[in-house]
Parts: sequence; C-alpha cells; structure tokens
Amino acid sequence: MNLTELLPASQNLAAVRRADPETADILAAESARQQSTICLIPSENYASTAVSAALSSTLTNKYAEGYPHLWTNGDRVERNGRYYQGQANTNAVERLAIRRALALFTPDPENYHANVQPLSGAPANLAVLHAILQPGDVFMGLKLAHGGHLTHGHHVTVTGEYYNAVQYGLDETGAIDYDELERVALSSQPKLIFCGATAYPLQIDFARIGSIARRVGAVLVADVAHIAGLCVTGLHPHPFPHADIVTTTTHKILRGPRGGLIVSKKQFGPAIDRSVFPGLQGGPHMNAIAAIAVALKEAASDAYRAYAAQVVANARELAEGLLHEGFRLVGGRTENHLLLLDVVNGTNGCRAKNGSYLAAQWEKAGLVANKNPIPGDAKAWLPSGIRVGTPAVTTLGMKESEMRQIARWMADATRHADDDGHLEVIARQVAQLMAAFVPPTAV
Ligand SMILES: *Cc1c(COP(=O)(O)O)cnc(C)c1O
Repeated sequence: MNLTELLPASQNLAAVRRADPETADILAAESARQQSTICLIPSENYASTAVSAALSSTLTNKYAEGYPHLWTNGDRVERNGRYYQGQANTNAVERLAIRRALALFTPDPENYHANVQPLSGAPANLAVLHAILQPGDVFMGLKLAHGGHLTHGHHVTVTGEYYNAVQYGLDETGAIDYDELERVALSSQPKLIFCGATAYPLQIDFARIGSIARRVGAVLVADVAHIAGLCVTGLHPHPFPHADIVTTTTHKILRGPRGGLIVSKKQFGPAIDRSVFPGLQGGPHMNAIAAIAVALKEAASDAYRAYAAQVVANARELAEGLLHEGFRLVGGRTENHLLLLDVVNGTNGCRAKNGSYLAAQWEKAGLVANKNPIPGDAKAWLPSGIRVGTPAVTTLGMKESEMRQIARWMADATRHADDDGHLEVIARQVAQLMAAFVPPTAV
C-alpha cells in the first residue's frame, strides 16, 4: 500500500512539487509517516492548519532586528525599536504575540514581560543565563539522567562550559530530591536555579523551590517547555509567582511552531531583551512569531482546556495499561503528560536489553517513541529507558480506549521485539487505527 496516495494533495505540496519534485517526495513521505504511525514522543505534537499557514506567510521575507518597543528607565514604551524600515506589520504581530503570552502565562500582565523572539527552547534558556550570569558564575539545574534538559548545565553544552553548573537529582522514589536541592543550594550559593524538566512524570513543587531560591538569593527560572499547557490550564501548579522567569518552547504541548518564549517579572525585561537581541540572535523569525500568536490564541480557548485535561487523563490511562502489562515506570506513575519506562526491569516479558534497541523495534510496529536515560544510567547513548507521552495522540482525538489499545500494542511489540514479522503485523493494525485519526493538514 502506498500511503502517499491516500493523502489529499494540498495546494502547498503541489507548489513544492512543481518547483522541486525531490523535496516534494520527501515531504509527502513524511506526511505519510505521520499519518500511519502513532506519535508517542511527548515533546512532539501536530500544529493546527492555521499555525502552519501563518508559518508559511509572507512574514518569512521580512527582517525585523530589534523590538516593537523601546526601554526607557526600565519601562517598556510602545515605540518602534527596529533597525530597518517597513515594520508596521511586524510590530503589530509581535505586540499581539507578546500581549497573548502575558495574558496566558501571567497573573498580572502589567508587572511581567514577554520576549517571543527566541528561535527555540535551547536558545531561550541560553538567553536567560546570558542575561543574568557572568561566565563562571554558579547556577543549578536538574541532572540530564534524572530528567533535566541538556541546557540546564550539562557539560556537553555551552551552559555547562561557560558557567559553573551544579546539578541536583531525584530521590529513590523518583521524585525531585528537594532536601538535596536545598543542601546543594546552601553550599554552592548559586546565582540562578533552573527547575523544570524534559523527562519527569511527576508534578514540580515550584513553591518549595521558590522558597529555597529566595533563601540563597538566586533567580529562579522555571523551564516549562513540556508542561506549559498544563500550567496555563490549571492542571499543574503554575510557576508564577514563585519563579522569576519562565521559559518554554512553543511547539510541544502548546502546539505552535518551533520557537521559544521567555516570560519574566518586569524587572528582568530589559536584560532579557538585550540578551536575545543583540546578545545572541539576529533577525527574529517573524513568520514563526505570527504562528506563535495564533497558537497562543488557540491555547487560551475552552477547546484547549478540554484538550489539556484529556492529555492528562490519557497519560493516566496509558500508565495503568502499561503497569498492568508488566512495565516498570520511573516514579511509579504519571502526574502529567508523560511516562518514563524503565525497560530493563519490566516483568511479564515487558523488558528489553536497553531502550535504544526497543525504541528502534517499536518503530517497526508503528509505535514512535524515544530512548531516554533514567536514574542510574551512565551512558546517554545506550539508556535503559523509553519516554512516551500523550500530547500528540490527544490532538488527534484519541481517548482512553485508544490508550488501552496502545498499551497492549506496546507490550506485544516488547514481548516480540526480536520478531520483525510480528512487528509488521502490529504496524498494519496501527495504520488501520490511524486511518480514523487524521492529523491537521500542513504541507
Ligand atoms: C525541549 C526542551 C528544551 C529545548 O527546546 P528546543 O526547542 O529543542 O531547543 C529546553 N528545555 C526543556 C525542559 C525541554 O523539554
């Protein structure tokens, strides 16, 4: 079966095909892959057709170095702060995105600041470090193998190379070890503490970390890239007012274009704006900023609130199904949108030699997830875990009954991981289910 033939050929793809059939073939194959497999990667999602359309708008042609505002004595003045002419519409769309970011993320927009220009989550985090710290300054973040992000001080990144990064971790139950965090903060006296994670299935106690940060005089940054949509809908405690600065990606649970946001208490606004531009970046991607504006409007809707609640309900159902089959979950459960499986220590056949092998075999069954380090892992390239999440499948409209089916397929694909023929049978069943759940049209 050639799946590309089943897809509606959109006008955009036809335009690419007329100019460049080779690229068009790749784009069509990717759409077919997304249509026929189940996306369980918790950091991925399907952007709406409106977001994709804004992304391919004429704003991609425009240079807009600078901001739609200027800073005078710590106050943001709505006066053109761009370097080039022709900014009527870039200013309008960036102001709209800023206004929506403040309305969605802050309790009190007047006293907060938003920067919508970071090109993605990693540059947003680097911009914050660059705004607050001097090279060599001490900051704290959660260890990568315990669920933290690379940019929270891992030594392979610039955040670990230019700054003096001190790491904290999880306790033996799989929860953030808040006592250790406090001890490390008291002994290392960081100027900044990062909280937030990329592979952490439990809720984060922002209030507790906030009180530790205040005790040592550190700026608290909450990186909610994964859980932003849960925080703004009340399904996870909100980082404000405990955090001073919040960073997020816009393309994960927020379902926007690839991009980053920094929302902060107002006093950090001038330093953050300077740090993003001219400190780290050149011209902002105005087409992405327009698409962020669209995504933020969508995220403020009742439909999005219902979506976020279903993401959490689906994750719980998936966790229950997987535990029932014999999988072992780091932390034992989920309180958000994701689950971290310890695939080396499962029972009832729900185990494998490592996460890399199993994730690759699962893909043959149409189940697309990612290998992930878990506590105790020494090697990030041969980890013992797999991370799965429900933001993407929930966008498609899947509910609890599909989660139970997916849990059965995951167990089946694990028990028969060495049997490619069996995996292919599952892949056909997966494609059949996916035929009823069409992702929004993009290209
Ligand atoms: C995904 C993620 C990032 C990085 O975002 P990119 O867009 O990949 O640069 C940063 N922090 C956390 C917690 C993330 O999950």
